[in-house]
Amino acid sequence: MGNRVNRMIWNLEAETMPREEKKRLQLQRMQLVFKRAYHSLPFYRRSFEAKSVKPEDLKSLEDLSNFPFTLKTDLRDNYPFGLFATPMSKIIRLHASSGTTGKPVVGAYTRNDLDLWSEVMARSYGAAGVDEGDMVHNAYGYGLFTGGMGFHYGAERIGATVVPVAGGLTKRQVMLWQDFKPTVLTCTPSFALVLAETAAEMGINPVTDLNLRVGMFGAEPWTEQMRHEIESKLGLEAFNQYGLTELIGPGVSCECPNHNGMHIQDDHFYPEIIDPATGEVLDYGQTGELVFTSLTKEAFPVIRYRTRDITSLDPEPCSCGRTTMRMNRITGRSDDMLIVRGVNVFPSQIEGVILTNKAVAPVYLIVVDRVRNLDQIEVQVEAAEAVYHMGEEMLLEISNQLQQELVQTLGISAKVVVVPPRSIARSEGKAKRVLDRRNLHN
Ligand code: ADP
Ligand code: ZN
Repeated sequence: MGNRVNRMIWNLEAETMPREEKKRLQLQRMQLVFKRAYHSLPFYRRSFEAKSVKPEDLKSLEDLSNFPFTLKTDLRDNYPFGLFATPMSKIIRLHASSGTTGKPVVGAYTRNDLDLWSEVMARSYGAAGVDEGDMVHNAYGYGLFTGGMGFHYGAERIGATVVPVAGGLTKRQVMLWQDFKPTVLTCTPSFALVLAETAAEMGINPVTDLNLRVGMFGAEPWTEQMRHEIESKLGLEAFNQYGLTELIGPGVSCECPNHNGMHIQDDHFYPEIIDPATGEVLDYGQTGELVFTSLTKEAFPVIRYRTRDITSLDPEPCSCGRTTMRMNRITGRSDDMLIVRGVNVFPSQIEGVILTNKAVAPVYLIVVDRVRNLDQIEVQVEAAEAVYHMGEEMLLEISNQLQQELVQTLGISAKVVVVPPRSIARSEGKAKRVLDRRNLHN
């Protein structure tokens, strides 16, 4: 057993470092980042000055809370290259967030940064028990989006065989599953379900007919219910993967076989949880906004970057042997949070209700609108194929049942409309689950 655990921990020194030693390393690295940012980037000099702090004021990790945050709007204001700390001649790759509104966030990488990215991704593969004996079917989108390249280079680093399929052409993807017999699937959780659905339509049962054993899913919010759905349909063990363009892309944190939160690669990314309203740093276990400081990135360092992702931290060493800080599943993104009739609603709460009901398919759309000055939520969800043919009355009964469950979970009422199978648009990458029509009336 000991051997097996060691083999799965890609970087034994970094991932099992005693906490005190890790803290010393983090402080040392953070002090360097602060000096570089302050002296090479006018933005950080100004934001430090506004808080009357200098890099030298960071004498311990506790001092970090005296330093200013960096917001997504700061990145926008400095778009595209204003926060890069190295000359463009040292930058060998650019990526950008998939943000659909406004300007995207641009990520920049020196050769060392790309090396770091492969390293943290290799750790993620290791934690999922993937090694050179595996074949990775990579269905994350390639291109500006960090998902494709991140999972690609990490798989090469551990020596697995990578199949760079990207999104789209779902039937062809399933054909490749049959012919190549990959053991690992990497994609967004919503696309994993689309592929599972396509396989079923083609008369293939992934559980008995294929070799998939590990799934590495992330880049969008998903629930435990969604995990069970994917695992049972594809016959694999699903590992949650977290990252963002602002920090590096995927590889910031990953699950181990204990599935008790995601191990943060905290020798490179330093996490904090804050109260989003006051900016106050919260204790371990408390839920708030995740904030990261990069410790080693060259081209695009970030200091106290507010991710808007809501979660909590767990410092307890894990029985897998890793001592790295763990973050819990993201329950929502503060900018995904809907305020409906004054009540905070996260799409993940609605997903949790829908995915526990077997009469409907795990495909839904949340439409928020304002009718006669009152906010209303309508949840459209597809009937399961078998159920759909049982008639109107049955569908009405299902929607009533879901409505009751939703009012209990959300604290406000939501209308449920059960729609025909396959009538809601499928996504290849990140699913678009919310349609907020209220802005249209302004
Ligand atoms: P965009 O901001 O356009 O979505 P990114 O591709 O950089 O661009 O997305 C990063 C964001 O995706 C994270 O801040 C987080 O909100 C979300 N995300 C990534 N991985 C996960 C995950 N495992 N669970 C929940 N949300 C995730
Ligand atoms: Zn662990």
